[in-house]
Amino acid sequence: MESRFRPLARGPAPCYLPAMQTCDAIILGAGASGLFCALTAARRGLAVALVDNSPRPARKLRISGGGKGNFTNLSVEPGNYLCANPHFVKSALARLTPWDVIDFFTAHGVTYEERDHGRLFSMEGAPRLAGILAEQCGRLGAAFHLGRPIEAVEGPGPFRVRAGGVALESARLVIALGGPSWPQAGGTDLAYSLARRFGLAVTPTRPGLVGLALPKKRLAMCRDLAGNSLPATVSCGNARFTDALLFTHTGLSGPAVLQISSRWREGRPVVIDFLPSAPLAELVEANRSSNILFRNLLGRVLPKRLPGHLLPEGVLQTPVSQLSAEQIAEAAEAVHGFAVTPSGTEGPARAEVTVGGVDTDGISSKTFEAKDVPGLHVIGEALDVTGDLGGYNLHWAFASGAACGENL
Ligand SMILES: Cc1cc2nc3c(=O)[nH]c(=O)nc-3n(C[C@H](O)[C@H](O)[C@H](O)COP(=O)(O)OP(=O)(O)OC[C@H]3O[C@@H](n4cnc5c(N)ncnc54)[C@H](O)[C@@H]3O)c2cc1C
Repeated sequence: MESRFRPLARGPAPCYLPAMQTCDAIILGAGASGLFCALTAARRGLAVALVDNSPRPARKLRISGGGKGNFTNLSVEPGNYLCANPHFVKSALARLTPWDVIDFFTAHGVTYEERDHGRLFSMEGAPRLAGILAEQCGRLGAAFHLGRPIEAVEGPGPFRVRAGGVALESARLVIALGGPSWPQAGGTDLAYSLARRFGLAVTPTRPGLVGLALPKKRLAMCRDLAGNSLPATVSCGNARFTDALLFTHTGLSGPAVLQISSRWREGRPVVIDFLPSAPLAELVEANRSSNILFRNLLGRVLPKRLPGHLLPEGVLQTPVSQLSAEQIAEAAEAVHGFAVTPSGTEGPARAEVTVGGVDTDGISSKTFEAKDVPGLHVIGEALDVTGDLGGYNLHWAFASGAACGENL
């Protein structure tokens, strides 16, 4: 079967490894991490083969950031990542900084805009980012075997892969298969089953960067306010994020909620401050001489119909000048400390990432090689490393891919 991938080559024609060949490294998964790993290794002169069951490389990257690709962040710190070993990410992040990623893409004609919280988006769109990675791999001679279901993986010594009629053999195998979130863009859990087969542990997984569903008794509020967005601070345990919150028909979404979802566990409450910019008591004090109804004062700083879901009608119909200290305290609690226990998340199909994955205890943080399986590497989202919202997951895919590619 011919490779269906045709890079938009402007340089020398890409060379494809024929089937049944030996190469320096087989990379399973031609997504963000696999492509970055391939081009880094190919630059060093290695012959690499990329295998993917999708006919197009990097499907998640193509749809990332609402099609604009939030490809990195001006500030990338280990604290932006969830991992059972918080030190694991340090080495790779130190070796590929945001400016390295920016330089890479701008050198290939990408322009970008900075949005809130240092998030960088491509002006040319996410598919262009994917195109650049694939083109560079092609130019450097990486072989693409796309549209090929992985049928068998054996090894080590050497590793052998059969996929859609192609047989490859190599001393090095890289698992860059991502996680099962967003299956409509190719997400599967093959990385985990392969890792287990090679004796690696996999930490429990759950959907991350995903909307939260609210229990029945809160659905009327959600439906009434669906489509409304406001700045909010959302916390769960010690984690807290201030960003936009969006009401949906089934619960809550928006960046602040997506962030907290990665930290949320079943049964735990989340607490929402709907007015993070100023204490409500101060707002009331500043309007103490006014006869404006409390409902209308709140309507100036919150979505109009939200106060009706937070406070009793009697309090809302009170003129601000006549509010009692108890009523002000009650209102402050409702507005700044709205607690709700989500009934669940919107599930893997709506989750941007999967939290958990291949246990980093068994992986070298420098080479991404499995400590007990020589030649086997795991990179990207397949690992138990999850970034915050804001370009951190793609950055991790690139950083882990680069570190691995340097060490193959
Ligand atoms: C809708 C959406 C928007 C996102 N937006 C952003 C964003 O703006 N910024 C950001 O930082 N992150 C974003 N992410 C997350 C980011 O896309 C991923 O974390 C990143 O792509 C992970 O890279 P990866 O290489 O590890 O995995 P992937 O990019 O998922 O690549 C895995 C590859 O393996 C292949 N594969 C999987 N299973 C199999 C199988 N069984 N057989 C053969 N091949 C297989 C897939 O086809 C794919 O090509 C978003 C994710 C989604 C779903």
